[in-house]
Amino acid sequence: MFSKIKKAYQLFKTIDFEQLDKLSRKVDLPKVMESFSKLDEKQLNGLMKMLDGGKPKRELPPINGDFYELHLRLSEEDRALQLKVRDFMEREIRPLVNHYWLRDEFPFEIIPMLAKLDICGLTYNGYGCAGRSSLMEGIIAMEIARIDASVATFFGVQSGLAMGSIYLCGSDAQKQEWLPAMQQMKLIGAFGLTEPEVGSGAAGGLTVTAKRTETGWVLNGQKKWIGNAPFADVTVIWAKDLTDGEVKGFLVRKGTPGFEVEKIKGKMALRIVQNGLITLTDCVVGESDRLQNANSFKDTAKVLQLTRAGVAWMAVGCARGAYENALDYTRKRKQFGKPISSFQLIQNHLVEMLSNLTAMQTLVYRLSELQDAGMLRDEHASLAKVFCTLRTRDIVSRAREVMGGNGILLEYDVARFLADAEAIYSYEGTKEINSLIVGRSITGFSAFV
Ligand SMILES: Cc1cc2nc3c(=O)[nH]c(=O)nc-3n(C[C@H](O)[C@H](O)[C@H](O)COP(=O)(O)OP(=O)(O)OC[C@H]3O[C@@H](n4cnc5c(N)ncnc54)[C@H](O)[C@@H]3O)c2cc1C
Repeated sequence: MFSKIKKAYQLFKTIDFEQLDKLSRKVDLPKVMESFSKLDEKQLNGLMKMLDGGKPKRELPPINGDFYELHLRLSEEDRALQLKVRDFMEREIRPLVNHYWLRDEFPFEIIPMLAKLDICGLTYNGYGCAGRSSLMEGIIAMEIARIDASVATFFGVQSGLAMGSIYLCGSDAQKQEWLPAMQQMKLIGAFGLTEPEVGSGAAGGLTVTAKRTETGWVLNGQKKWIGNAPFADVTVIWAKDLTDGEVKGFLVRKGTPGFEVEKIKGKMALRIVQNGLITLTDCVVGESDRLQNANSFKDTAKVLQLTRAGVAWMAVGCARGAYENALDYTRKRKQFGKPISSFQLIQNHLVEMLSNLTAMQTLVYRLSELQDAGMLRDEHASLAKVFCTLRTRDIVSRAREVMGGNGILLEYDVARFLADAEAIYSYEGTKEINSLIVGRSITGFSAFV
């Protein structure tokens, strides 16, 4: 008897709501249920087959944002690492991000889990780092951002901006002291360049000062937006040397007197990332904590070039996450008795998203190839950052659109991608500034400095 009821239930499940509604107006459903209970297994199976049209169930194509199969260019070892990171992000990170995003809090429990993946400082040589390709680093940034752009940003600050400053501008002793522990994520870093009154104009306009004393340096001023700063063990502070007017870098340790961090509240994007407003008041730093090979803003720019490429990859991840979520949703969501993905206008949105996503991925692959060949120039990274973050904005907004009302609900993930894309669009150089860097390179005229 139970199996018959189950079968009858399954039978009704094959009929959609609209059909069921029509049916209930034509027939007495309780009576129908009663007659079902009288049918034997064979008769029920036959009826189910008839309703199914006797056709085998249609397999939908797999959801895959890598439409041109760029992963085929990877070695077996690199592909395995990509899939390992993807699996980790889907299994461990996806279930908890919305909870923390909503609360504007950082999930500290993910730090040891990320450390176990052994992907921090991936491209650096020595100091416990793996010395792998920039391409692989980019792919990892994409995979992390495909699930959550905040976690990708936290990781980018640690592995790129903070470790990168020490790797590119530190002495060997400084690298020995910081990089192995940062690679294992036992120590967390931050990167302080932007100020409350100086963002785009940082190259020539920093107002945080560094005054040389007999034993070291005294730092004064404020830094704004500094990711990870509220809990970082070390913050790289870029300041203008009052003696020669050049920008220098300083490793300021957590708890140093005169170093205060206030968490920036009320963000509508990247809410998991903890950004700080730093106030330096006669903050004393030893000469041994001045980055020994950072002598002007040109050295700061080297770090930014490295990480701008990473931000372009992150934008690809954010866009890919939104596209794949939206495609999945439109295949499941039915209106007018059909999946909305079967409508032409929805397919147009999906194809526009995929076209941009495919162009972005192809671009960042080539960008990383240039980087790995030692040919990366500022304008290459800037072009990729502008193009990818601009296209990402378009993709996340279409993803939201095809999801209707649910597109603005956090539980469907796309709302988070939509909001986070706004911050990625502006940080590490706005669209205007990165465009001007490219403009200067192709025209020979600088329109901004
Ligand atoms: C979530 C988040 C995280 C961040 N993390 C960090 C961090 O970890 N460390 C750090 O140092 N900084 C960080 N930043 C700061 C970020 O890099 C700056 O916000 C960015 O560089 C822009 O500076 P700004 O916000 O002061 O804008 P502004 O420089 O005030 O620019 C405002 C507008 O004016 C435009 N503009 C400025 N100059 C020109 C010009 N010459 N021509 C045309 N248009 C122009 C800009 O493009 C922009 O549209 C972060 C920012 C955000 C939002």
